[in-house]
Amino acid sequence: MKKLVVQKFGGSSVANIDRIKEVAKRVVSYKKHHQDVVTVVSALGDTTNELEELAFSISKTPPDREMDMLMSTGEQISCALLAMAVKKLGHDAISFTGGQVGIKTDKSHTKAKIIKIDAKRIKKAIKERKIVIVAGFQGITDDLEITTLGRGGSDLTAVALAKALDADVCEIYTDVKGIYTTDPRVEKKAKKISKITYEEMLEMAALGAQVMQSRSIEVAKKYNIPMHVRSSFSKEEGTMIIKDNEKMESVSVRGVTCNKSEAKVTICNVEDKPGVAAKIFTEISKSGVNVDTIVQNVSHTRRTDISFTVPIVELAKARKTIKILSKKIKMDNVLSDKDIARISIVGSGMRSHKGIAAKMFQALADNKVNIDMITTSEISVSCIINRKLADKAVRVLHKEFNLERIK
Ligand code: ADP
Ligand code: ASP
Ligand code: MG
Repeated sequence: MKKLVVQKFGGSSVANIDRIKEVAKRVVSYKKHHQDVVTVVSALGDTTNELEELAFSISKTPPDREMDMLMSTGEQISCALLAMAVKKLGHDAISFTGGQVGIKTDKSHTKAKIIKIDAKRIKKAIKERKIVIVAGFQGITDDLEITTLGRGGSDLTAVALAKALDADVCEIYTDVKGIYTTDPRVEKKAKKISKITYEEMLEMAALGAQVMQSRSIEVAKKYNIPMHVRSSFSKEEGTMIIKDNEKMESVSVRGVTCNKSEAKVTICNVEDKPGVAAKIFTEISKSGVNVDTIVQNVSHTRRTDISFTVPIVELAKARKTIKILSKKIKMDNVLSDKDIARISIVGSGMRSHKGIAAKMFQALADNKVNIDMITTSEISVSCIINRKLADKAVRVLHKEFNLERIK
């Protein structure tokens, strides 16, 4: 039977017209091997960041609906250009927006969830032997409002389409050769991992390994979709993301990640009584802000400090909500710190290896990196540290856990 491949090309793979022409050649090569192809594209190069900057130059809290109208345009440009480039090579292609191929989402603008995909239109185009090119990162609500799927969301478009079309494989083409033990831009000695489990990849992505969007891995894991992360600049095999396999060696630490896109908020001297934390975090969540690590100190005076992290782009929104809350809840000043980074170690072997966290803290201490907050999960340990020390900390931990020697 004919194979169906869903593949996604990230922003760096379609950064300019020459790159788009290269991608077109690669897409066409699948057709030559008698495979059907559905190609998802991200916006050209840094377009999405540039669009975001434009919006923030008008307002610190731009309306979410209008953000989606703006941010979704980037992918519409790249999918049209790629379709033109494929046609120029003598193959039939057609580009679609997310809405046009029935990617239905909920109404949570800027981080919408896909509810269902009505793939009729894509299936018809495939039957007509067309190469289908879809704008990543976007969908549409029942009210015909355009939504986006969160940063890095083209990965999710690809995985969701792979599921809807029952594809044989989902390929993620990017600017590195696969998933590495840490960001190869930060640590030159980082090693490419040939196979990684959904669970470990999900944790690495959630903790900042930008190479894959974490929600896309959640969907791939749920439906057991084989994923191949590889480079659009070479023919080399990349990394397979697969189900847990007993034969896979369970190393204590598989990778080190770093997230520099969060800020820390501290509400000083909040009243310490039942219901206060509930009220604060309910209101912040209602305003659409994603809170991560939360730390509340023990109080000796019936007042306490509460600190938590939020995405930097949502900091202004969070502060606005707290300002309104300060009229109802007793608190002193509110501090925010953008100069933080989350540094994490991840590995499913942590379940059975002892002393990993202590080893991490000691390595950071030996290198004069102070730890501000700590969180753990079954297969990860994360520390919030000063952003200026983040790259150094990545290299220290990579060495400490011998990741450069991994095979
Ligand atoms: P794309 O434009 O293809 O979506 P991204 O910039 O979103 O690409 O992701 C690729 C980048 O992710 C790489 O250039 C690399 O610097 C970074 N990265 C961070 N952590 C990792 C990791 N563990 N393995 C591979 N790449 C990583
Ligand atoms: N262009 C969007 C972003 O930069 C989506 C993506 O690239 O996956 O977040
Ligand atoms: Mg990406």
